[in-house]
Amino acid sequence: PEPARKLNIAICGLGRYANVLKSGLADSRYCRLNGVITGTPAKAAQWKAEFGLPDKNIYSYDQLDQLANNPDIDLVYITLPNGLHKDYTLRVAKAGKHVIVEKPMALTERDCREMIDACQRAGVQLAVGYRLHYEPHHIELKRLGQEKVFGQVRWIEASLGYRLAGIAAADWHLSKVLAGGGPLMNLGVYCVQAGRYVLGEEPIAVTAQYGPVTMPDRFKEVEENIMWQLYFPSGAICTSATTANSNIDRFFASADEGTFELSPALSYGPFAGKTSRGVFNFPVINQQAAQLDDIASHILSNKPLPSHISGDEGRKDMRVIEGIYRAANTGKKVLL
Ligand code: NDP
Repeated sequence: PEPARKLNIAICGLGRYANVLKSGLADSRYCRLNGVITGTPAKAAQWKAEFGLPDKNIYSYDQLDQLANNPDIDLVYITLPNGLHKDYTLRVAKAGKHVIVEKPMALTERDCREMIDACQRAGVQLAVGYRLHYEPHHIELKRLGQEKVFGQVRWIEASLGYRLAGIAAADWHLSKVLAGGGPLMNLGVYCVQAGRYVLGEEPIAVTAQYGPVTMPDRFKEVEENIMWQLYFPSGAICTSATTANSNIDRFFASADEGTFELSPALSYGPFAGKTSRGVFNFPVINQQAAQLDDIASHILSNKPLPSHISGDEGRKDMRVIEGIYRAANTGKKVLL
């Protein structure tokens, strides 16, 4: 049904991903962009013109707390560098607005807990921008794994990497403070997610290894490559790699009576894959529109958000990621 009204969204941090969200907003039925929060006046002017935003809905970072007095913004979508996710989530919650925060949710599990508590206290909902939960191939991977369609999954390989040979030295992805880590924070989180949601289990132990640094003038503070193995209570293993020096985008699962796989698997797609019975034939959808509409329709009807995109889901990933770093740093198997 057509919603009685649309959820009014403001985007905070107008970088690359904010621009990707534009097409999701254009295709959305349940929300519309009604404000921006930015440190760059030229972007404010450009977004104002593109979306017909009123001046009163355009904020600098310093003015963000004034959102509390603006009934024309319901939710803030935070697309800032990872290291700013926690503080901005706390500020938005304090202003009484719902929050979608991009992945990775924060830099530590502890920060995730603080964000969850702050949103609960403020009576606002908190979601993490896990777009793949709305993508048909991934919905199918989850079903195949969790419903044991091919029996118990024993072995998963899930890896995502991009060759960033041209990355600027000043890019925040190379900063420990702003990114929290290297590709594990930005890309590896998708591999951790895939292992967890295909098995429907939480890992109990992890081993991990750093790879060689081939761009030492860039990767001084954060890892360039990392490989890890998650051990699950059923005995299943998920082995993954993420890197900034190779293009990899694959998922493979082996169960007792068959296999299923995707490649490309974890990027924006379009995805392709097969099971041991035949090829997948799912439509290409706008992942961002589907994600925005599910979140907006829940909030508009005052329902709690689904657990697969909740703050607690983001927290569970950070718990695993912290374990992966501990294992790589110590060279020991870490119990989670
Ligand atoms: P960008 O660097 O392109 O954009 C970040 C924006 O944040 C900047 O353009 C700037 O916007 C603002 N900003 C505020 N303070 C700083 C600062 N100190 N340094 C840099 N930027 C700052 O990053 P992305 O858009 O690629 O990533 C943003 C977030 O989105 C990350 O958490 C990332 O993990 C996530 N992401 C998610 C994806 C997904 O598929 N779900 C894909 C890509 C990213 P302004 O000029 O308006 O102030």
